[in-house]
Amino acid sequence: MAQLSDDCFAFGGPMMSVDEAVAIIAARVTAVDETETVSLQAADGRVLADDITAPLPLPPFTNSAVDGYAVRAADLPRETEQPFPVAGRVQAGSSADAAKPGHAVRIFTGAPMPFGTDTVFMQEDVRIDEAGRVVLPAGLKAGANVRPAGEDIPQGQLALKRGQRLRPQHVALAAAFGLTELDVARRIRAAVFSTGDEIASPGTPRAAPQLFDSNRFMLMAMLQRLGCEVSDLGILRDERHSLASALKQAAGRHDLILTSGGVSTGEEDHVKAGVESAGRLVLWRMAIKPGRPVAMGIIDGTPLVGLPGNPVASFVTFVHVVRPTVLALSGALPEQAVAIPVRAGFAYKKKAGRREYVRVSLRRAQDGALEALKFPREGAGLLSSLVDTDGLVELGEDITRVEPGESVGYLGYASLI
Ligand code: AMP
Ligand code: MG
Repeated sequence: MAQLSDDCFAFGGPMMSVDEAVAIIAARVTAVDETETVSLQAADGRVLADDITAPLPLPPFTNSAVDGYAVRAADLPRETEQPFPVAGRVQAGSSADAAKPGHAVRIFTGAPMPFGTDTVFMQEDVRIDEAGRVVLPAGLKAGANVRPAGEDIPQGQLALKRGQRLRPQHVALAAAFGLTELDVARRIRAAVFSTGDEIASPGTPRAAPQLFDSNRFMLMAMLQRLGCEVSDLGILRDERHSLASALKQAAGRHDLILTSGGVSTGEEDHVKAGVESAGRLVLWRMAIKPGRPVAMGIIDGTPLVGLPGNPVASFVTFVHVVRPTVLALSGALPEQAVAIPVRAGFAYKKKAGRREYVRVSLRRAQDGALEALKFPREGAGLLSSLVDTDGLVELGEDITRVEPGESVGYLGYASLI
């Protein structure tokens, strides 16, 4: 289990910026050190535990990039086209004999270059004369249409870094090296609780003043996308003692505990009290909207993140606090989503000193530019605002207003989770 000291998340300031939060997490969270070996097929989304240096060059041998005719550079026609007798044929997967000077070899994409040849004419650029010779045009550069061994990756080069979260292209590279399995960090075990007397689990009866739990399913899905092994620990009632003992129990078996709701400073916000009696709590008043307070806690060495109850606030703070925590716990290299400039199709006013995320849909304007349209309502409880939009416009701490037509930074949901 990852163990964290009690003051791990302590923070002195009145309002924490998103960057401060990310920096504290990066500095204080230690990665789990257990690893496991998985097959390539099971490797997508896992975090690589060791560097991989290329055990062979890619491509492993020099080969033709096109279907055509291979010749020696010394024989290349300089001034006018020139006929060449065709001697030999080499296709992908077969080995080539040495080529005779003054001859061309019929060759196909991916076939090894016959010894002595170093240049390939595309079949579209040549013709065959009455004598069956191939007529090659003048002017082709030596080495054209050839993929030299190692041009992609030379043998011995660092090809995949420890901490890389594997995507299909990384798995492809490992396969190209002939590897069959990879050492990866073991999955982070995350426990998820919802809190609140007003929350009912889907599938159970819902009393009139209750609503079905949506956060837990959103958060579990987000954690799963980050490669976590997730325990669904249900709903905690707004009662300090049962809450504290459930959290304490979960701490022993997990690397991370996530709750939603109950972290404001109201009388009925019991997560705060529960964490305080089970372990140690720090409330982060984050300068982020939607967001409000986020609780960070340590229970028997296991980090806890208490997210706000409103679904949109929960979503946004997950992205900024939980995601980097999970990445740090699994030893993954930090990943920062890059905001794409788009044109604001809305006006907006905000306070300086706080980062705000505006839910927007993208559309292609008549002049071809991408334009972000703001969801018409603002509430942090509106699930439709997440469902009916494509992503978030990020407005930095210094910005106080946005005018229609200005350039703003857009983060698609797919880049956030
Ligand atoms: P709280 O932070 O506990 O005051 O909750 C803020 C708002 O979020 C309240 O309206 C809650 O009913 C709502 N909320 C809390 N937890 C959930 C949940 N798991 N699913 C949906 N809404 C929730
Ligand atoms: Mg509550």
